[in-house]
Amino acid sequence: MKTAVSSLPMSALQALVAKAGLERFRADQIFSWIHGRGVTRWDAMTNLARPLRERLAEEWMIEDLVLDRQLDTEDGTSKLVLATGDGHRIETVLIPEERKLTQCVSTQVGCRMGCRFCATAQLGLTRNLTPGEIVAQVRHGVAWAEAHGMRLSNLVYMGMGEPFDNYDGTLDSVRILLEPLGRHFSTRKITISTVGHIDGLSRLSREDLQVNLAVSLNATTQQVRETIMPASKRWPLQALLETLRRFPLEKRRRITLEYVLIDGVNDSDEDAERLASIARSMRSKVNLIRLNPFVGCPFSPPTVKRTERFEQLVRARNVTVILRRSRGSEIAAGCGQLALQPGPDRTSH
Ligand code: SAH
Repeated sequence: MKTAVSSLPMSALQALVAKAGLERFRADQIFSWIHGRGVTRWDAMTNLARPLRERLAEEWMIEDLVLDRQLDTEDGTSKLVLATGDGHRIETVLIPEERKLTQCVSTQVGCRMGCRFCATAQLGLTRNLTPGEIVAQVRHGVAWAEAHGMRLSNLVYMGMGEPFDNYDGTLDSVRILLEPLGRHFSTRKITISTVGHIDGLSRLSREDLQVNLAVSLNATTQQVRETIMPASKRWPLQALLETLRRFPLEKRRRITLEYVLIDGVNDSDEDAERLASIARSMRSKVNLIRLNPFVGCPFSPPTVKRTERFEQLVRARNVTVILRRSRGSEIAAGCGQLALQPGPDRTSH
């Protein structure tokens, strides 16, 4: 088995380079080819002598994803369907806004959290993505941005999968993306979104790494939350809220509380009041989004009127609240709609 060097953060690559008996600076060269310039072929690394390139090509490999399909919407959103080396397909979404371009990346093939309002959950989990596969999505995102005359500015870990169910893969991919010789993202431009995985949150709080944190709250009582988010049985609402209140946030950072509005389930006036008091109990802001339905989804979004009332009730309690427009929903690229529809061009393995 060849070593997947594209999955290694800089420190691990340096260790591998040393073990292979190469000069120290080779790690910098290789890292910047792969993660800075997006080169995935050894023979294109022209500052490595040909015999070295040949040796590396035999021992090491660079994980890549193959673009299978690209689906564009009129609002400018684009969904890329990417195939892994072992024939699985995953999805990533590019979301242009006025002054920024955000990419939504996947961390797993499928998901095992089981949220009833999310299409990805219906697939179950196949496997974790490696750090190399997560950063390969960003390589495709950067290429897409260049082709459209834009610059990729923000990353959100809100695609398929639960980032903390693939803790090491997620964190190593973040470390790679932060490297100055790689994409050199700022920690303020990367957001990890979690179902409320308390173990992952606790681990992250002990890391020397500050990224933005988003938590999918989606309900204000344990009873409702555990019916729509089974993972809440394992990580109960009250324990989650305590974890969030204790989370060591850098100054001027706030936790984003995500709330998918579902008709008749979590959109009452009482929910709005409870959501406001939860938000006020910690440094946070609220992101509301109306449910994006998908085939077989047992729920529907509330009316626009109901949505606006909910938003106003929360705002009236002095909470920062944003109603997110759904983007890309007509190509099933909206939040909670990432799931591959079986079709004739599905890659079989
Ligand atoms: N597992 C992570 C990241 C993936 S979900 C998490 O739970 O945060 C990304 C966001 O999409 C979450 O906030 C989730 O609540 C939201 N979402 C899921 N299904 C949705 C749907 N059908 N409509 C709108 N938003 C949805």
